[in-house]
Amino acid sequence: MNTKNILVTGGTRGIGRAMAIALAGLGNRVAVTGRNEQKLREVARELPGGIAILADVTDAAHSQSVIDEVTTDIGPIEVLINNAGIGGGTDGPQLLIDMDADDWWRVQETNVRGPMLYTKAVLPGMIERGEGIIINVGSYLSIRPSPMATAYGTSKAALARFTDCLAVEVADQGVQVFCISPGLVLTDMTRDLPFINDIPEDDFQRPEDVAGLACELVTGKYGKLSGHFIHVKDELATLL
Ligand code: NDP
Repeated sequence: MNTKNILVTGGTRGIGRAMAIALAGLGNRVAVTGRNEQKLREVARELPGGIAILADVTDAAHSQSVIDEVTTDIGPIEVLINNAGIGGGTDGPQLLIDMDADDWWRVQETNVRGPMLYTKAVLPGMIERGEGIIINVGSYLSIRPSPMATAYGTSKAALARFTDCLAVEVADQGVQVFCISPGLVLTDMTRDLPFINDIPEDDFQRPEDVAGLACELVTGKYGKLSGHFIHVKDELATLL
């Protein structure tokens, strides 16, 4: 198999960690980012030939240096997975009326501005090489309204539109852009939702299921496809 150099943002936990480990298991060289040093050290041990970098996606001044560090350590980034995301403000998902405006902004900064910053930093290299894959991790809540998701749903809807607009922008330059949209996955992000304990664990979509789709997309088998919004939807997503 043709292996690749891949950067996964937010690879310390949950879906990002599962994607990083699955992609490394296929022989790809994988870099992950995150804000938790201990968890970065733990995941690094599971990424042979890969690296883990302390980086906050909201830190605009740092995004280019993260890309440069990954490029120096594992080679030019051939696949960027914009996974880092938050579900709400410091108190988790909230009704808009209860949400602090700074918390609203933090959700947009993390879930939309972060992917934009990392994408801008990798694009010149991808365009120069005439190939590259960008996978944005969206959400079912970008298309389905839900209470307490005004900030999150808005951010993920923006990310979906970012995906298809960018796909058109770079269509002639060999860069593919996808948005994968998980349903309800049991991770730190969803563990405290009120209805979670009523659901049998086996009924959840697993981080590994989302990772399987990412592995499929990076194979390069879908060379002509771009701009697609791909659901990893399950029945439980309708509970959100
Ligand atoms: P988790 O809370 O388990 O993990 C979030 C990851 O993002 C962590 O690795 C965290 O790392 C990282 N992260 C958060 N903020 C930042 C930041 N500012 N800078 C760098 N890294 C950051 O969430 P999930 O695994 O569930 O979510 C992953 C993605 O999947 C998100 O984009 C989410 O919106 C999306 N998603 C999740 C669903 C679910 O049901 N769980 C459903 C649909 C979409 P650290 O703490 O080390 O910074």
